[in-house]
Amino acid sequence: MLRKSLVISCTIAMAISCTTPSTLPTDRGLVRYEFARVRMGVPFRAVFYAATATKARSAASAIFARLTELDRRLSDWTATSELMRLCAHAGDGEFHEVSSDLLRVLQHAERLAQRTHGAFNVTVGPFVALWRRARKIGKLPSNQALSRAANAVGRKYVQLSPEHSSVLLIQRDMRLDLGGIAKGYAIDQCIELLERHGIHRALIDGGGDIRVSHAPPGKRHWVIAVQSGDSETHERLALVDRAVATSGDTMQFVEIDGVRYSHIIDPRTGLGQTDRRAATVVAKTCIEADGLATAGCVLPTEEAIRVIEACAADGVLHRRRDDVVEMHETTGYRRLLAAAPE
Ligand code: ADP
Ligand code: MG
Repeated sequence: MLRKSLVISCTIAMAISCTTPSTLPTDRGLVRYEFARVRMGVPFRAVFYAATATKARSAASAIFARLTELDRRLSDWTATSELMRLCAHAGDGEFHEVSSDLLRVLQHAERLAQRTHGAFNVTVGPFVALWRRARKIGKLPSNQALSRAANAVGRKYVQLSPEHSSVLLIQRDMRLDLGGIAKGYAIDQCIELLERHGIHRALIDGGGDIRVSHAPPGKRHWVIAVQSGDSETHERLALVDRAVATSGDTMQFVEIDGVRYSHIIDPRTGLGQTDRRAATVVAKTCIEADGLATAGCVLPTEEAIRVIEACAADGVLHRRRDDVVEMHETTGYRRLLAAAPE
């Protein structure tokens, strides 16, 4: 049987009243603005406080233009993206110059791969392509197809030369997939851009992954409602200057012969993760939260929690076995929960 579903947001954001607000010199006369558009294949929403409508509009157009630019650089969906053009050179033995965005994301991907002991691995693209085909035809890839794809997967086949801003992809048919961190990076870039526009109280939501800067005026923090896994209850996080990302097989999976394969690939097997898992990670930046949430669905749960803590992040993992849901949390996670609404 084949089941298909859309990627939709599993994190909901809202600003809720609370006491003891922090004040900034730029706070006078701030008004709340909200803008939304689809970028990188998901709905992006910017909520922020600005002094005038002109300033708000100009910041919003800068954000959406930047997101369009990042999509052109980092997407693995369009053959003409910078990333796909780089992949077309795989195996030619040459370093190719890349934009600072692509270089930075690849450097971060390598750091995450090291910290997650290889669970996070952006070279899994050939396996992802097989997964997408399996989803279309409702059949698992053959062993032959898997081993052919495996020849083009491996972090050791990516060489970065930061001093020349260039990249060498060693094996033919390599296909990098930044789906596990590009959105997080893009969200971080929006927050930085807003800072440069003098907007310090903001929330950016990209398909459910969120980063906030300072709290709304008169509030102590943003309250973000997170739905982890397929549980029906929301948890409310109180966040300032933090990012939260969720990953899991709730929305994107394929079911073949009664087994459910997630769109998150276990790099050791080349197949979608079959362990029913959902991860929510809170980190200082969204690229970090995004990548750690993806890795949190691959690593054994206890190791995942250790890795998240070692990255100075917090998180919760839900693992479903039949009708039982196990929950694993970092020690600091409960402290992020918001008080009950007044
Ligand atoms: P979402 O698609 O909901 O944002 P994630 O952030 O977890 O979820 O990203 C999942 C995407 O990451 C997959 O669709 C694929 O593009 C890519 N991916 C799959 N497995 C891995 C992996 N082991 N390491 C890095 N990226 C992966
Ligand atoms: Mg992710």
